[in-house]
Amino acid sequence: MTAIATTGTDVRLTGISKTYGSFTAVHPLDLSVPAGSFFALLGASGCGKTTTLRMIAGLEDPTSGTVELAGRDVTALPPYKRPVNTVFQSYALFPHLDIYENVAFGLRRRGVKSVKKQVDDMLELVQLGDLARRKPQQLSGGQQQRVAVARALINHPQVLLLDEPLGALDLKLRRQMQLELKRIQTEVGITFIHVTHDQEEAMTMADTVAVMNAGRVEQLGAPAELYETPRTTFVANFLGTSNLIAADVLDTSGDDILLRACDTKLALPATRCTATARTGEKLLVGIRPEKITLTHADDAASVPDGRNRITGRITQAGFIGVSTQYLVDSPVAPGLSVYAQNIERDARLAPGAEVVLHWNPGHGFGLDAAQSIEAGTDAGEAGT
Ligand code: ATP
Repeated sequence: MTAIATTGTDVRLTGISKTYGSFTAVHPLDLSVPAGSFFALLGASGCGKTTTLRMIAGLEDPTSGTVELAGRDVTALPPYKRPVNTVFQSYALFPHLDIYENVAFGLRRRGVKSVKKQVDDMLELVQLGDLARRKPQQLSGGQQQRVAVARALINHPQVLLLDEPLGALDLKLRRQMQLELKRIQTEVGITFIHVTHDQEEAMTMADTVAVMNAGRVEQLGAPAELYETPRTTFVANFLGTSNLIAADVLDTSGDDILLRACDTKLALPATRCTATARTGEKLLVGIRPEKITLTHADDAASVPDGRNRITGRITQAGFIGVSTQYLVDSPVAPGLSVYAQNIERDARLAPGAEVVLHWNPGHGFGLDAAQSIEAGTDAGEAGT
């Protein structure tokens, strides 16, 4: 398979916004998508991600701002004159044409005489060469999805836009297709912009994720960066689960910010705090459930020095095979989540048990306490 040449494609949105009457679906947004990257717009339903994608495609006129593709201002161009193709959730294949002709369609429409080599290459890319003469209705959902991708890629777009392309597939197939789409993107090297509400999908496939909330990008970065250092409670909870502990700042003079939550002292490296920490004010200390270790209170003396430690009581323990998920009530915060890998299970860690929760301070992150913990928790539920 010959890779489609990338040509330094870049998508740049400058001050782009969309209002419908008095409702603002997308607030003025600046976004730059690196050439050849797999970029995900991630957010809950109604956050404005599809509207943003449609403005890039030219299917929606922006209220303000500009869209540049590969350095060219295309804001005023209709969709068919933009070097983009869109793959929709409803594949939109032609039912009366076989797979080969569906894929060949774009070339034939442009009057390309000899299509065989390109169509064969595309079918090979999406691993459907054997099924070329079948009709779309004779394929599974995942296979139809791959035809839709091949049909879009054969036009050599500079950017491929994917609007919830895996939404109609069941969970197992979705997971397979995520890997498949990532492989295809790596192979062809074209910029993919993918819209999804599924955080796992965005993290599995994308190099860069823009987390959208209420028409704004809350944070943009590599998946691991967003997960390890979320900057807002929304991001902390939309990407996975976070425990957020409100604490008073005691001292900011050293490398670690020292804090107190109830009577418990906590430390947080200053480099892990995106909010401004001021002595006497509050901060949210975030810690992911899998970064916390649970130790039965009887063994509290075995917890190594230098770790943040709080006490609590287990209220729930859910065995899910690979891990056990605990809920722990602590005077410091109620309903703390802890995920423990099932390597050596301590049978005493059951509902009612008194425990010590402890973690490496370097695994925490600090957020502005002015953001409500409630809002973050709600967002987390929406994202799972
Ligand atoms: P979903 O995942 O449900 O598709 P989304 O994040 O892609 O959600 P958009 O489709 O971009 O959301 O819509 C953003 C907001 O704009 C929503 O509140 C939606 O109701 C509103 N909206 C979209 N299109 C229109 C329209 N033509 N007229 C009025 N409001 C609209």
